[in-house]
Amino acid sequence: MAASSIVFLGPPNSGKGTQAARLASRLGIPAISTGEMLRGAVAAGSELGDRVKDVMNQGLLVSDELMAEVIEDRLGQADAESGFLLDGYPRTLPQVATLDSIMERRGSAIDHVVLIDVPQKVLEARAHKRFIELGRKDDRPEVVIERLEQYRIKTEPLVNHYRERGLLREIDGDQSMEAVEAAIAEAVGA
Ligand code: ADP
Repeated sequence: MAASSIVFLGPPNSGKGTQAARLASRLGIPAISTGEMLRGAVAAGSELGDRVKDVMNQGLLVSDELMAEVIEDRLGQADAESGFLLDGYPRTLPQVATLDSIMERRGSAIDHVVLIDVPQKVLEARAHKRFIELGRKDDRPEVVIERLEQYRIKTEPLVNHYRERGLLREIDGDQSMEAVEAAIAEAVGA
């Protein structure tokens, strides 16, 4: 059987990145984090990095057009040929359409959309803790608030979209990391 193609959805500080990496390694598919890719490009000072740096540091979204180039390129690489886990893409309805057309060209489809659900209060507490502990450049409080806002406005509509397509697997993210990991594995049959 072909490997799965999975999308992870969830607000900033939902624990999405950690869980995405764990599930991907369990399934033997690459975890593709667009946030990490873009931060890598910024750190490397590449042309892409220069184009996205300011937008990212304000907590805003990189344009759908530019993200389409990034994701087409990444999903075209050999390690993603038979399956992948996307963390951070799609984030807007136009990005859903881009991903659908990529999948159609591959003669394939998304198998599962995992939503990590965490109450707003818990997200805020986690954001505060993360800021004190490490301080990623876009973890400043006002930027975190903007990222959450962008999520609510642009990404949350994807939840209903994927629910209607029967792909949504809702996970309670307000539990221990191990419990969340087990719930996700069960939901996708891993
Ligand atoms: P978060 O921790 O908020 O989930 P990520 O690490 O996934 O954030 O992404 C960090 C930043 O990278 C975003 O705030 C945004 O500027 C940019 N980014 C990542 N993925 C996308 C995308 N699919 N579309 C637009 N911008 C993106």
